[in-house]
Amino acid sequence: MRDNELYQEMILDHYKNPRNCCTMHDATHTASGDNPLCGDQLEIYLNIDGDILKEITFQGSGCAVSQASASLMTEHLKGRTIEESLQVFDKVHMMLTGLHPDEINTEDENAMGKLNALSGVAEFPMRVKCASLAWHTLKSALKESRENISTE
Ligand code: ZN
Repeated sequence: MRDNELYQEMILDHYKNPRNCCTMHDATHTASGDNPLCGDQLEIYLNIDGDILKEITFQGSGCAVSQASASLMTEHLKGRTIEESLQVFDKVHMMLTGLHPDEINTEDENAMGKLNALSGVAEFPMRVKCASLAWHTLKSALKESRENISTE
């Protein structure tokens, strides 16, 4: 199976069986985002303990790419620190804006795991906003938490 087919399978799988797809009643931070170009809507819920994303869930509606991206994101970031999550955000952003594969080193590629499934989206400019919606929404939620931390 070629990489592209594998990635497509992964996106469909996460769309049909989204992980961590539920509201969170004890969320410490939430943010919502939408992508009017496609009609995607997402709500991200975080439960942050210290600087760890103890729980991360989402709810939303929209196209397969937007929902799968959110699902992949929650799976990848759960249990990570805020700092790590922001680093992953940057890498996903680079990947979605079409960074040449040679510029992503193997170490990064391994660290990204299933998130590499999103790399194929870079070929479809219309879909980039769909895939990045979850990440921008996460960043809004995290921004709030960072401000809270800095006032401690
Ligand atoms: Zn979309």
